Amino acid sequence: MMDRDRNKSLLLELLRAPGNDRCADCGAADTEWASYKLGIFICLNCSGIHRNLPQISRVKSLRLDFWENDLIEFMKSHGNLCAKAKYEAKVPPYYYIPQSKDCLVLREQWIRAKYEREEFVATQVCQHPCSAGSREGFLWKRGRESRQFQKRRFVLSAGEGVMKYYVKESKSPKAIISIETLNAMFQTEKIKHAHGLQITYHTDGQTRNLFVYHESGKEIVDWFNAIRAARYHYLRTTFPAVPEPELIPRITRNYIKEGYMEKTGPKDAFEQGRVFIGRMDEGYEVRAGFPQGVQVKKRKPGITVVTPTREFVFMCETDREQREWIDALNGVLAQPLTG
Ligand SMILES: [Zn+2]
Repeated sequence: MMDRDRNKSLLLELLRAPGNDRCADCGAADTEWASYKLGIFICLNCSGIHRNLPQISRVKSLRLDFWENDLIEFMKSHGNLCAKAKYEAKVPPYYYIPQSKDCLVLREQWIRAKYEREEFVATQVCQHPCSAGSREGFLWKRGRESRQFQKRRFVLSAGEGVMKYYVKESKSPKAIISIETLNAMFQTEKIKHAHGLQITYHTDGQTRNLFVYHESGKEIVDWFNAIRAARYHYLRTTFPAVPEPELIPRITRNYIKEGYMEKTGPKDAFEQGRVFIGRMDEGYEVRAGFPQGVQVKKRKPGITVVTPTREFVFMCETDREQREWIDALNGVLAQPLTG
């Protein structure tokens, strides 16, 4: 057999070794690429990020490139589990580990944090969530009316349990946000910026949003993880008995679908704000249309959300919107709460 063919089959055999069948960085199932400097198997998307970091990583395609014998030996003696043990030895529990569907800035900063800055190697001293959840600096914030981005000073304090932002240096804060209801998620398309972050919180029974970004990918991801550290600190101290795997998914959430449906029916039957959705086996259900006896003046598509104690009725603008909401709600119902 030719060297070329033999090497190719050796490489593909390595892919079957534990850990190598999933991308070392995002967990995607198609590991068609490898970094022969780090000794890891990765997906096409992550290989693009590695390609931009020649000082720490060099990539080759497993199928299309030629692999020299010594490189194959190197891959054999390293691999994804080995790299994980070294570069992910101390990932803090609140640190967001991105998956393949996450936005580029999250995936790129995860890769840089791991291999370039070596933030999680064993010799690093783990920061306490309370200090990791304290941060101060400027972010570009979209104005509520003008929709122009303006530089605002933000102060996050896990110890005080609040995040504040300031319009002018000397004045009192424009808003004091409790970490209890704080959420953050990347929304790059909606904010029309590759580093766009949506911060959501509740105040006076209402949901409020702040749309922010920072020019530096590192800064915005550091802010995101600082918010997560503050949330983790809050949850850990408020619910000391809740086991870690149940707490982690509650640090921040990515909404599956966000929008507005018009509520209908007798006014007093409906609360302002949020409807808690549990699981199907707990008696929760989503149905198209309105319950019997509910009269609707405007002919609009409806959704009925059945909870163990009552029914909630919503109106949508279009049939398509109705279908999308039903799909999204059913997706939530099918998920275990701890998911
Ligand atoms: Zn990947």
